[in-house]
Amino acid sequence: MQSVDVVVIGAGFAGLIASRELGRAGLEVLTLEARDRIGGRTWTDHRLGRDLEMGANWVHWVQPHVWAEMTRYSRGIVRSPRAEEASWHGADGTPRTGTLEEFMALIDEGQQLVVDDVREAMPRGVDPTNGAIRDLDRLSLQDRFDALDLDPEARAANESVWVGHVNAPLDQVGLSSALRWVAATGGHWQLMHEASATYRVVDGMRGFTDALAGDIPGEIRLNTTVISVTQNGAGSDAHAVVETADGARIRARRVISTLPVNAIAGIRFEPALPEVWRRQSTETVASQGTKVWLRAKGHLPRFFAYASQHHPLSVLKAEFYETDEQGDYTVLVAFGPDHTRIDLDDLAGVQAAVDAFRPGIEVTEVTAHDWMTDPLSRTTWMTHRPGQLTRDLAELQQPDGAVHFATTDNADLWGGFIDGAIESGLREARRVAEALLPH
Ligand SMILES: Cc1cc2nc3c(=O)[nH]c(=O)nc-3n(C[C@H](O)[C@H](O)[C@H](O)COP(=O)(O)OP(=O)(O)OC[C@H]3O[C@@H](n4cnc5c(N)ncnc54)[C@H](O)[C@@H]3O)c2cc1C
Repeated sequence: MQSVDVVVIGAGFAGLIASRELGRAGLEVLTLEARDRIGGRTWTDHRLGRDLEMGANWVHWVQPHVWAEMTRYSRGIVRSPRAEEASWHGADGTPRTGTLEEFMALIDEGQQLVVDDVREAMPRGVDPTNGAIRDLDRLSLQDRFDALDLDPEARAANESVWVGHVNAPLDQVGLSSALRWVAATGGHWQLMHEASATYRVVDGMRGFTDALAGDIPGEIRLNTTVISVTQNGAGSDAHAVVETADGARIRARRVISTLPVNAIAGIRFEPALPEVWRRQSTETVASQGTKVWLRAKGHLPRFFAYASQHHPLSVLKAEFYETDEQGDYTVLVAFGPDHTRIDLDDLAGVQAAVDAFRPGIEVTEVTAHDWMTDPLSRTTWMTHRPGQLTRDLAELQQPDGAVHFATTDNADLWGGFIDGAIESGLREARRVAEALLPH
């Protein structure tokens, strides 16, 4: 049986960071990844005639863990196109069109009111379970909207903005997610908007994760699915045996699982996972939406558009302008709050979903990866259900014997983002190093 110091399960950002830290500290680390590529929920793929991000797209310098890595690997940023036009749905459900400035004026008061109590609720973004959030965590984002006395036009627009952010129907998402994101941006919702959806990484996520992987001394074994982790021994003999789908058994002094909460049931743990993991993976976290790339005829205006949270797609944005032998075309990105509401094989259905935003967009092709049905993720960018944050976060961060858990799902600051994945990888690498290396 192969024997190593540490097995890291998963080569997304959390796993790559943990592997780099421990490998460079002198430990023998083996990273096992089920997919045929690294990156996890970041994935740059060539589709619709250009490189597209099927998963995470945007980063920002207010995300401290991401930015440290961007600096380390000399990554640049490029701005997504600034919208010249905006469309949204009015209170009567029909589309309105205006300038970006008009839309921002419409949502200004509501965006502020949704998170107005953030300084009491979550005074420190790095400590998201302390503060009045303890009492507020039972509330959904929909509860918060219902309690605000917003003008119906402004309410419709504000709800559509938030459903785009949280990637799930608003009555299923904790208010905590809105508060966390704004706590992480010093209480400024405008900065939160910029941080979460403006700057892409030059050379894509693939360039970023390739640079990171090149810095890892140990082996990253692709196409290797872990099926079980069995803990044995105690004290200085504590170890785990990791079994893979192709029958290999690897002994490790420590194991770091980087599986998302929703996907962790794909591995059999012996002894069983701590109660908190079993509970939350059965409940699942709230995020359940979809991200879709569309090709449309012609060069469309630079616009973004919102529909309501009840539509299959609730956000649509012109991202890239291209030309090929068939002529000019625009590549659009769309987000919907429920992945089951849209069938990508049904172009007429997709066209109808797009027609709800604004007229004049002719969709010719559509592509996406369904992260919700993907057994290796079963989630998009994590948002919590009401109550999950304060009930579970601290416990989800705790190691269980020789098994550690690093995932964006259990990060303190930007939980659900790449930044959170890096934070969690650093945290668990430090704990493992403290346990295995002489001080
Ligand atoms: C559509 C979409 C858009 C997003 N947009 C953004 C954005 O703009 N900005 C942002 O910061 N974040 C965004 N995110 C979130 C971001 O992608 C994630 O937070 C982050 O990549 C998670 O990293 P992770 O390492 O915690 O998990 P993952 O990337 O999910 O890594 C876990 C790894 O474990 C592997 N694995 C699973 N099971 C097994 C097994 N049994 N054996 C071996 N390997 C296994 C998986 O294949 C995967 O590689 C987005 C996510 C999605 C899906």
